[in-house]
Amino acid sequence: MSSKSNPQRLLAIMAHPDDVEMLAAGTLFHLKDLGWELGIATMTAGDCGSATMGCEEIARVRRAEAQSAADYLGAWYACAGLMDVEVIYSAENLRRVVEVMRRFDPDVVIAHSPADYMLDHEEASRLVRGATFAHAVPNYETRQDSPARPGRAIPALYYADAIEGKDPMGLRIQPQFYVDISKTLARKREMLSRHVSQREWLRSHHGIDEYLERMTAWSAACGTECGFSYAEGFRQHLGHAYPHGPILQEALRNFLRSSKPVAPQ
Ligand SMILES: [Zn+2]
Repeated sequence: MSSKSNPQRLLAIMAHPDDVEMLAAGTLFHLKDLGWELGIATMTAGDCGSATMGCEEIARVRRAEAQSAADYLGAWYACAGLMDVEVIYSAENLRRVVEVMRRFDPDVVIAHSPADYMLDHEEASRLVRGATFAHAVPNYETRQDSPARPGRAIPALYYADAIEGKDPMGLRIQPQFYVDISKTLARKREMLSRHVSQREWLRSHHGIDEYLERMTAWSAACGTECGFSYAEGFRQHLGHAYPHGPILQEALRNFLRSSKPVAPQ
């Protein structure tokens, strides 16, 4: 019944290794099952993600963990080469993000929420928004080695929930729609567990497997808002020039619950 003959290409781009796993992996496994081509990109390799290893060592470890997680999903993976805590909307960083986006050339992009608990996430959201706009602009040059050709078109842009669903003031950011991830939660947990260094760091600090349990508890809390056991929330960017069609909602219609009427007028 699909109206598309070619598989859709979706790129999830977030700040750090494990953010996509935390915020959108349950949905990505549904899309994988539907035959979509998936990519994951991170702004950084997680160079501040250790209390015992230096930047280069932990970055090497976490890049390998991110690749392992992407392999488990069956997704392409790339890192834009930015540094933790310095994910900043700048011309140089934008060129790097556009280069990564052009290498995958997605139809759909998932980014961080524009408002989130830390600036790396908010700036990553702005960088991805800027990159989607520049993606198909022929005269925009990324100035990278062997640059990829400009993309086909502005991709549809979606925002995942913020961490714990809250803005910096602690207020809930209401999703536009929820995806039931009850059937993919086990795979989401397995994918997240590929980030061994982060899981062990938290486990040694807290004595419990907080890494997996916190994600699972948040997925359950999100589910209680919409009547699913476990859920992920999303919003679609509907600014001028962006695709307005509900491409992701239609693909996921068997797992979907809208929190509000989709059409604004
Ligand atoms: Zn993060």
